[in-house]
Formats: sequence, C-alpha cells, structure tokens
Amino acid sequence: MEPEQHAALVQKAADLLRQAKFAIVLTGAGSSTPSGIPDFRSSGSGLWTRYLPTEVATLSAFNRHPERFFEWLRPLASHMLSAQPNPAHRSLAALEKQHFIKAVITQNIDGLHHRAGSQNVLPVHGTLETLTCIRCYRQVGAEKYIHSYIEQGISPRCEICGEYLKPDIVLFEEQLPAKIWLQARQATDSCDLMLIAGTSLLVSPVAQLPERAWRHGASIIIVNKTSTYMDEYADIVLRGDVAEIIPAIASEVLDD
Ligand code: ZN
Repeated sequence: MEPEQHAALVQKAADLLRQAKFAIVLTGAGSSTPSGIPDFRSSGSGLWTRYLPTEVATLSAFNRHPERFFEWLRPLASHMLSAQPNPAHRSLAALEKQHFIKAVITQNIDGLHHRAGSQNVLPVHGTLETLTCIRCYRQVGAEKYIHSYIEQGISPRCEICGEYLKPDIVLFEEQLPAKIWLQARQATDSCDLMLIAGTSLLVSPVAQLPERAWRHGASIIIVNKTSTYMDEYADIVLRGDVAEIIPAIASEVLDD
C-alpha cells in the first residue's frame, strides 16, 4: 500500500472512532507480540516442544498432574510477567481514558492491557493475574505467589486449605469464564464500532464476535498482519504492526 493511502485509512479509522458512541476493541496474540510474547498456541513458539498441549494444558491433565502443569507453565508465565506493555496497549488505554473506547475484549492472558492502564478489560481466555483454589474456590491475586513460583518453582498453594491454586487461564477442554464471556457478548451487542487488533480470528467462539457486531450494523476496523475472514466485511483494513498503527490512529483521535 502507498504511504498516502495508508495515511488516509488511518485518518478514516480515527474519524470513525471519534464518531462512534460505543466503540470496543478486540485484541489477540498479535497485540502482545510487539512486547516479545510469542503466540503460545503456535507450534513455532517453542512452548509446546516438550509436551503436547493436549497432554498438559487441559483441565483433566491439570487435575491428574498439577506439578507437570506448573512446570510447563513456568517459562511462559515468566516470559509474560517480565514483558512490558507496548505502544498499542498504551494507546488503547489513552483512548479509553478519553472515553473513545468503552471496553477491551482480549484473548491474551498476559495482563498487559491492565498494566498499560486500561480499566474495562474482558479477558475471555482468562488471565495470569489471578488464581483460584481448586478446593475452596477462593480467588487470590497472583503477585504474592509469582516470585517463589517463577524463581524457585514452588507451585502456588491455598493458604486456607492447602490445595493447588490454579491460574485463572482457560485451558483446553475448559469453558470460557461465564461472566466475562457474557460481558463480552453484551459489549459486542451494544457497540457501534469494533476495532479488531492483532488477531487472525481463528479461535472460536471469540472469532464470532466481530460477525455478531457487524450483523447489527457496527463499523468494523481491522488492524492485523495477516488476513481474516472478516476483511471483506470491514470498513477499514490496515495491514501491519499494531504497535505502529494503533498509536497512529490514537494520535489522530486524541489530537483533535
Ligand atoms: Zn483453598
């Protein structure tokens, strides 16, 4: 694409965002790759080389072999927790603060939207930020447990009952967190614009949200490195790095 064409599309995206009454964002792995986090579902990331995900990252595998699960998760968690929000995260937080966007639905479990300052984040695949006891269902913040886990390999245990604390991430075989998923669908039904950033829309049921938004007339903006099934329905498709394009859109919106 010619630079002028690109700039015109960025401007058009900014205009749509400014005009929207209820704009929401949907992000995926591509929003966190500029922070150095690999797409952990992809085979090339190296995270699946030792174990097959279906052998270790399922609910039944967790229940059978929790120590093996925690051993598998440790490098991934370490990587995610040392990563920093990138300009795309920060721009989305700034747009929310100025009321241009109402919610960020994310498939990422790394907590980077929160750390960048976004308030209304809906992590539909769960988050590493909290843990839940598998016996008494007490939910706790991860900070307290993270250092001994990452540095010494000590699996997190409930202080009340002594059972394992399972990270609140959605494993294979697991349902999406019901309340968050409901909120994500409600936000989708309320939105008049959905900005899709850094996701190829391949993982269901999240991948159906843009179509749901489009069906009731919401504008669709897609920023992604590769094509998606929604490209033909989108008002604007910007192909490239979210960490460059989202800040460019945000600065057009916020400068006016
Ligand atoms: Zn407990």
